[in-house]
Amino acid sequence: MSRSLVIDNIGRLITNDARHETGLVGELLDAWVVVVDGLIETVGTGRAATADERLDAGGGCVLPGFVDSHSHLVFGGDRADEFAARMAGRPYEAGGIRTTVAATRAATDGTLLDRAASLLAEARRSGTTTMEIKSGYGLTVVDEARTLRIAAGLTDETTFLGAHVVPPEFDGRADEYVALVCGEMLAASAPHSRWIDAFCERGAFDADQSRAVLLAGRAAGLGLRLHANQLGHGPGVQLAVELGCASADHCTYLSDDDIAALAGSETVATFLPATEFSTRQPYPDARRLLDAGGTAALATNCNPGSSFTTSMPFCIALAVRDMNMTIDEAIWAATAGGAAALRRADVGRVCPGGRADLVVLRTANPIDFVYRPGVPLVASTIVGGAVL
Ligand SMILES: [Zn+2]
Repeated sequence: MSRSLVIDNIGRLITNDARHETGLVGELLDAWVVVVDGLIETVGTGRAATADERLDAGGGCVLPGFVDSHSHLVFGGDRADEFAARMAGRPYEAGGIRTTVAATRAATDGTLLDRAASLLAEARRSGTTTMEIKSGYGLTVVDEARTLRIAAGLTDETTFLGAHVVPPEFDGRADEYVALVCGEMLAASAPHSRWIDAFCERGAFDADQSRAVLLAGRAAGLGLRLHANQLGHGPGVQLAVELGCASADHCTYLSDDDIAALAGSETVATFLPATEFSTRQPYPDARRLLDAGGTAALATNCNPGSSFTTSMPFCIALAVRDMNMTIDEAIWAATAGGAAALRRADVGRVCPGGRADLVVLRTANPIDFVYRPGVPLVASTIVGGAVL
């Protein structure tokens, strides 16, 4: 038997549905949404439809659930000491990702799952309803496959990132490691993965190595995404566009050519401003990309080294304050933009037929994400019609 739910008394509904010609985010006032069997059935304004169950939004704002298209949620240990040292001005100690790799390899499946599940629950409380999760802290055939198996128990959006860093046992033999990633490691990881990714950056993998990894992943049936232009200018964005990646992630350093390439492509630029916050790097200027006609997404990059937050509201606050996005652009990027970065048509919007993934705020005005930073504004998160 079908079960229906009406969410009514919505002061402001953000739909991201272009059919509502009310600005970038398709805003409706005094609105309601009817959900049937986990899908959005109808959206309207004024007198609400009736349903089996009712959720009163209390005059607050309702928006699509956040689509966090970039996280590294499965890992062992943490790096709080490294972070504290960085904040105290001490130089960044080499080790970084490798510290987490050692801790992840040493952790049991149960420990890794419990940690990732608790971070996902934390993300849900701040409004995230879709979360991509990458591997990249195992870096052996067995450990990459098992971290992806754990991630696949939590989300459909799993990404094989064997090409995250060259592990210590392959020091000086990066090409041999790339061959392992493209061969045995990919074969063991692909059954648990939707996507493949590589860290194309000086000190990680160069353009040729990254291209080899992505092409091997494509041949194995995986979609493509790429870590690009995080620490400086480089070939990553151009490679992502050349290969038709769904997303180029970080994009902290974009040349005019990079912006032109992104704007003329289907590749989404996914900005991860909590990383700049946590590493004291300069923020990217999203305005340049948006003015050129590019598509932007916002994501957390949740990981223990460079961005240990699950909060999409925090990313929205940074994007508006420090990246020259308007609040509507930032909300669109955190919802519909994330969906575009994952090539998903069923999330990131409030449209009939889409998944009933919604966030109810305690405020009618979403500028409060920036105006009242750090305050818990999410009253409830609805995932597939289930109110959490
Ligand atoms: Zn990342």
